[in-house]
This record gives sequence, structure tokens and C-alpha cells, in this order.
Amino acid sequence: MELGTAPGCFGAVLQETTGSGNTFGSKLWTDGKLEAPMLPDRPEWVKCPHCAHLFWVEEARKLGEWNIGKRNSLRADWPKAQTPLVPSESDYYAALKTPPQDPKKERYLRVRALLVRNDHFRQVREIPEEGTASSGAGR
Ligand SMILES: [Zn+2]
Repeated sequence: MELGTAPGCFGAVLQETTGSGNTFGSKLWTDGKLEAPMLPDRPEWVKCPHCAHLFWVEEARKLGEWNIGKRNSLRADWPKAQTPLVPSESDYYAALKTPPQDPKKERYLRVRALLVRNDHFRQVREIPEEGTASSGAGR
């Protein structure tokens, strides 16, 4: 975990740092979204849990890092630190009205907007095994 302050209000935010993970039990959708229970999503653009300001994680001022489970005075010093929120679909559209200068950031926002939009339509249907599907119907 990493502790930092959000740009804007300087509220304390906690960010999961890239650690180990795996894709067991994961689901890869045709639009590129990966749902992996053992590999948490770490969004690059987030909403401040204190003031709802949207910011890039890389712009947060880093205060320190610690391992979960170990007693650490850094965590005790920042009891109000919270995990940033995930932006809503409308947050992405609003941000894209004046896209970032960095083409990578603009692409990131566009792709995320698409994935969030597609979330409304995600559903899993059973794929019939070969030979068990009803034959003839609609062909
Ligand atoms: Zn804030």
C-alpha cells in the first residue's frame, strides 16, 4: 500500500501498489475488459474520496509505503486516509470534453469510458456444448 495526498485538497489517499496477482478465474471480455478476482484493477485516473476532485494517481504526492499486516506508524499517523473512488461514466464524458494534452491519457479515458458504458450490457450466457444445442431451429 502506498500513502499519498490528493492534488487539490491534499486529503490522504491510500493506493494499492502493484504486487503479485494472477488471472485464475478471470474473464476477458471481447472489448478488452479483464475481470480477474486475484488481480485487482488499479485505475490510473480516480476520484478523491474527500472532495470528489478527479486526478491522475501519478499526480498524488507520495508520503510513504508499507506492507499490510505489519504495524506501521505511517498508517497510524494518517487515520483518515481513504482509497480513491472509481470515476463514474459521466465523469469520463465530462473529462473528455476537454481531453488531456497527453494522447496516452486521452486514450486511457476513452477506453475506460467505453468499458464503463459496456458494463451495462455485460451478462454471461451459457454456451451450449457441442451436440447438446437444439438442431434445426432458426437455420
Ligand atoms: Zn480531494
